[in-house]
Amino acid sequence: MKAWRLKEFNQPLVHEEIEDPEITAPTDVIIKIGGAGVCRTDLHLIEGIWDRALETPLPFTIGHENAGWVHKAGSSVTMFEVGDPVIVHPVASCGKCLSCRSGEDMHCDNLVFPGLTADGGYAEYLKTSERALIKLENGVEPKDVAPLADAGITAYRAVQKAAPFARPGTKTLLIGMGGLGHIAVQLMKEFGAGDIIALDTNEERLNMAMEYGADEKILADGNHLEAVRHLTEDIGPDIIIDFVGEDDTHKESMEMLKKGGHYFVVGYGGALHVPSLDVINNELNIIGSLVGNYTQLYELMKLHAKGKVKLHSTSYPMSEANEVLQMLEEGKINGRTVLVP
Ligand SMILES: [Zn+2]
Ligand SMILES: [Zn+2]
Repeated sequence: MKAWRLKEFNQPLVHEEIEDPEITAPTDVIIKIGGAGVCRTDLHLIEGIWDRALETPLPFTIGHENAGWVHKAGSSVTMFEVGDPVIVHPVASCGKCLSCRSGEDMHCDNLVFPGLTADGGYAEYLKTSERALIKLENGVEPKDVAPLADAGITAYRAVQKAAPFARPGTKTLLIGMGGLGHIAVQLMKEFGAGDIIALDTNEERLNMAMEYGADEKILADGNHLEAVRHLTEDIGPDIIIDFVGEDDTHKESMEMLKKGGHYFVVGYGGALHVPSLDVINNELNIIGSLVGNYTQLYELMKLHAKGKVKLHSTSYPMSEANEVLQMLEEGKINGRTVLVP
């Protein structure tokens, strides 16, 4: 099959013919890829920063936001048939460890993460397990929902954590109105009760956030801390969800957050430095959020089917993977992009 593979860090992906994935365990399922979402994590994988956390298995196929059709199924697969359209939860979890039994697939002790620790979806076929699959509703095309598998549930989990604090009269600042941010606005509208302020460096993305239900927008132009103070009557946002996670956004969030406020870190790549005196004196709550579990993806697909979460996405042929990654790097993408084999 054709695959677009990472062979060396900081180099473009290489288009190669490789063996089709094969069923090796009875719970394995081979998916014919209908769409593979392009994610900032793919850029971080190419940069090699994930290698520190989990030893990236070079050379390998990236792509962890996948949807398609069941192509082959192992002998114990009972819930799906060949041809079923499915979205693929990003990890193949074991189902036996305590984390799995608690419903936290992302913390599975025996986790396989196609696109990060094993071959992913920038290819014609992908191997995962039955446990990762959710059947698509009638009429839903895999390429139209693939980014919900990661961008979608990552926004969903962060908003679920934040929403109980978003009481009437509170202000939530969402930093970064890209692939995750535009979904988070809609989910915050659904689950939270306070006002939503969108912050981004790009006016077009801010306008999209307003269309999706943000109450206020602020352009990150150097005067944005002042603008946030103004909109929050000098006390700062009750909640900040940071979808960017770079040094600047960490530092500014710590400056802006209201006393007793909650800071959710979703984007990553920077380093968060905060004096412990500030943590106790201002009672800062700093909370990380990682992708989402199977149930969260299931719930998100139900909201999507009801039209309550719209995905702004554009498709490209998979042969343009390197060009699309370059556009993402240069901040030229609005919403999400999907590669179609
Ligand atoms: Zn991702
Ligand atoms: Zn497990």
